Amino acid sequence: MSGCWRRLCKRFIASTALALLLLLPGLAWGAEGLKFKPGFNLFNVQQEVQLGKENADQIDKQLPLVTDPQVLRYINDLGRRLASFSPNNNSEYVWTFKVTNSSDINAFALPGGYIYVNRGAILAAENEAQIAGVMAHESGHVVMRHGTHGISQALLAQAPLEILGGILGQTGSLTAQLAEMGLALGLNSILLKNSRSAESQADEVGTYILYQAGYDPHAMAQFFEIIEKEYPQKTIQFFSDHPVPENRVKAVDGEIPLLGPAKQWKTDSPEFEATKGRLLSLPAPPAATPGPPASAGSSGPPPLPSSRLIKFEGRGFSIDYPDNWRVQQSEDAVALVPVGGIVEEAESGSAQAYGTSISRFQPSSTKLGNWGLIDATQELLDTMRLSNAKLRVIKQAGLKLQGRPAVSTLLETDSPLQGQKERDLLITTRQGEFLFSIIFIAPEPSFDAYKPTFDAMLQSLELQ
Ligand SMILES: [Zn+2]
Repeated sequence: MSGCWRRLCKRFIASTALALLLLLPGLAWGAEGLKFKPGFNLFNVQQEVQLGKENADQIDKQLPLVTDPQVLRYINDLGRRLASFSPNNNSEYVWTFKVTNSSDINAFALPGGYIYVNRGAILAAENEAQIAGVMAHESGHVVMRHGTHGISQALLAQAPLEILGGILGQTGSLTAQLAEMGLALGLNSILLKNSRSAESQADEVGTYILYQAGYDPHAMAQFFEIIEKEYPQKTIQFFSDHPVPENRVKAVDGEIPLLGPAKQWKTDSPEFEATKGRLLSLPAPPAATPGPPASAGSSGPPPLPSSRLIKFEGRGFSIDYPDNWRVQQSEDAVALVPVGGIVEEAESGSAQAYGTSISRFQPSSTKLGNWGLIDATQELLDTMRLSNAKLRVIKQAGLKLQGRPAVSTLLETDSPLQGQKERDLLITTRQGEFLFSIIFIAPEPSFDAYKPTFDAMLQSLELQ
């Protein structure tokens, strides 16, 4: 039974990959000119809007929001005007724009048209065209249905199609049903993590919207370039949710002549400048967000790992871990952490200083059906560097993991513990369409003490 659906999935994935290949880079040509096509999706538009609403309701309780009516009116007017020019728009989409009260430069979109723009992003924009570019890019994620496309892909890889049909047909909270299937949504989840090809498509749609709305269509890619260079610390989350597509500026520059003749572009407005002034006059954003439960309550290193190991059954793998560690699961990663192994950082929230983190990474070249282990590992390292520029490879070697080819990469970086260096041992191997990765983390002075535990854990790892 299970063998049967798996084969079916594989065939389905192969044909989806082929379809994607034919559609890339998201543009198709017809008599009417440019066309944009969303990828494969298991959700209908009503379900998509419901999923967006459920998560927006949750996120509104978790994130500090700007409530100033003048700011909200401006952002919603601008956002809805932009959305009215978006391709593949749907009358069910709600197009609600909120301003997160954070000085980090970030923006994200939930399915169905719930878009959050950070106060820091509005203040970093040099003119209206740039913030319109960010919002048009987010609208691109909405109309190309990237959030539910990502969930659909994850479900396809994880759950039998028979179950899927049943679950998505039921009434009640979709978020809760997906959580039961092991897909936790919300902030920092698969819902907000976009692939590079999704980013390219959001860029294409965003550029198209800017052009149609009369803004300088270069403004979006320019803004992303500027903030990436000028504000590396304030954009960590942005570039982890929106990985940088290759040749972004070149791709956008190539698209613009296809959109139509050059116009007298609009770049700024008095309303934008007034909104910036208004934001600057509001009280400063709150400093930090509350951390997850395994955070260090007090100072001092965690207790040494217990030699008694217990089994953790994950999705597609199992591993033994010390019985005095805790499990922290998120949508796309499992962290096995000693008590006190997670520390709060002023700049970027919480970070793991000790323990193990296991995740699956989808290399962008998957669609081509043939990525090499080394290349995929390199792409993972590149992605990690987006949020951790100091990450440095000390050595890399091949090994066998249960008879499969694997790569071991020893890394050095700054520990989230102030003034300390960190050692990371990253092991990667192929698991279906994904790169399975397990990373063992400890501050450099403690790494040797943790090494026997890490070795025992790696020995116990079983992959399906
Ligand atoms: Zn994006």
